[in-house]
Amino acid sequence: MDYLRRLEENFTHFPGIGPRQARRFVYYLLSRSNSSIRELVDLIYSVKNASRECHKCHRFFIVNTNIKSNDNCGICMDASRDPSTLMVLARDSDLESVEKSGAYKGLYFVLGGIVPIMDKEPDKRIRLKSLLDRISDTVEIKEVILSLNTTPDGENTEDIVKHSLLLLQEKRDIKISILGRGLSKGAELEYADQDTIKNALLNRH
Ligand SMILES: [Zn+2]
Repeated sequence: MDYLRRLEENFTHFPGIGPRQARRFVYYLLSRSNSSIRELVDLIYSVKNASRECHKCHRFFIVNTNIKSNDNCGICMDASRDPSTLMVLARDSDLESVEKSGAYKGLYFVLGGIVPIMDKEPDKRIRLKSLLDRISDTVEIKEVILSLNTTPDGENTEDIVKHSLLLLQEKRDIKISILGRGLSKGAELEYADQDTIKNALLNRH
């Protein structure tokens, strides 16, 4: 495969990008100057090298060079956040949307993906065991809010996580909530506006 096709192939691995868009990216890059390409490549490297995955919530965050320990992100280390609620989301981009809404002050857990319907190995798609460990190890957690897209795959993921949490509920008193009806069918959290997220949180059930 030549360079051009290889680059195009790489872009098709990006979330939501098909072959046609991948080709447009390649031709866009070809139209740029050498210096702007260099700047872009350097920037990607810099962001990658400066970031880390949080040990607690698994979101990516930019390392704070002023502090010694960078195992946990700023949200997990923020003492003003409510440790009794844990919101479970599919991806970092969903977390960003909820944070922007300003409606939620608890902690998070990023599953790292979703489980497509009929998939036989959910443990390979999402951090299910890690989530159960986190809840088991943290007695402060009183409520788990499942905030997944209302798409068929999102709902399938919700069912799988909920099923595992119900087993945990037999041992401990934990409330399991689903993000409210404010989110319409087929909605993706990442693209939901701030008011929608606020309402969805208020109407969680
Ligand atoms: Zn964190």
